[in-house]
Amino acid sequence: MEILRIPRIAQDSCKKHLLRGRSLGFVPTMGALHDGHMSLVKRAKMENDITIVSIFINPLQFGPAEDLEKYPRNIDEDIRKLQEADVDILFIPDTTLIYPLRFSTCVSVGPLSEKLCGRFRPGHFGGVATVVAKLFNIISPTRAYFGQKDFQQTVIIRRMTQDLNFDADIIVCPTIRESDGLAMSSRNAYLSREQRTAACILYKSLATAAETVKSGETSGERIRTLLKETLASEPMISPIDYASLYDPETLEEIDEVRNDVLIAVAGRIGNTRLIDNIYVVR
Ligand code: AMP
Repeated sequence: MEILRIPRIAQDSCKKHLLRGRSLGFVPTMGALHDGHMSLVKRAKMENDITIVSIFINPLQFGPAEDLEKYPRNIDEDIRKLQEADVDILFIPDTTLIYPLRFSTCVSVGPLSEKLCGRFRPGHFGGVATVVAKLFNIISPTRAYFGQKDFQQTVIIRRMTQDLNFDADIIVCPTIRESDGLAMSSRNAYLSREQRTAACILYKSLATAAETVKSGETSGERIRTLLKETLASEPMISPIDYASLYDPETLEEIDEVRNDVLIAVAGRIGNTRLIDNIYVVR
C-alpha cells in the first residue's frame, strides 16, 4: 500500500491511474477505522481497479465546542487494517496542506445543510462539503463510497456532486451494526459501559417505528410519538436533538407516509452525540 501525504503527489498518482484507464474507488474517512468503514473499503475493492482511502480529521466540520481535539486517533492500527484489506493508496494529508495559510473558499450546499443535524451543528455540512470537494479534486474518483449511517451527509454530497459537475458516482452502503443493533461509530469509543448499554435504544426505537410503518401505519404523528416514547424510555439519552420521519430526498419532516421514508434520530449520552437512521422502502 502506497501512503501519500502531499495532495499534489496524490493527485498525480491518481491521474496516472486514470490515464491508464483504471477506475478509482475512493473512501473518505476520519480514521479510527471500524467494520463500518471497512465495509465501504470492501465494496470499493470489489467495484474498482484501484482503491484509495483517505484519513483526515477535518477541522472545518467541527464546531468550536465539539470534539476535534479528543476525536479518536489510531493511525497504526488503521494502516494495518487497510494493508490487510489490500488497499492500493492511503492518503493522509497534513492539515496545513489541506488548509494552507489564507485558505478561504468554502462550499455551501444550501437548505439541506440546515435540516436535521445541521440545526444542532451549524457550519458542519459546509465543512464536510468543502473537504469532500477538495478530496474529489485531488483523487478524481470514479466512484466514492459513503455510509448510510450519515444519511444527511450522503444527500448533501450527492447534491454537491450534481451541482458542481463532479464526475463521480456516489455509492451509499448499508449501516454496519454491533450485535445489539448499535450503529458502529468511532465516537462509540467515548461511551462508558453503562452508556454503551443505554445507546442501543437508538436502534431499538428506530426498528420499532420502522416495523410500524411496514405494517401499514401512515400517520406521521403516531409513528413520531412511538419513536419518541421508546427513546424517552432510556433517560440517559438527553437531550434528544431530533426523532422523526423525513422525506429522503428533501429531508423535510413528513406528516403522512406515502412513499419511502427516512426515520432518523440524534441525541446525547453524556457528552457523546450519537445519530442513527433507518430507511423504509414503501
Ligand atoms: P467517518 O470516519 O466517521 O467520517 O466515516 C467515514 C465514512 O464511513 C462515512 O461515509 C460514514 O458514513 C461511513 N460509516 C461510518 N460508520 C459506519 C457504519 N456503522 N456503517 C457503514 N458506514 C459507516
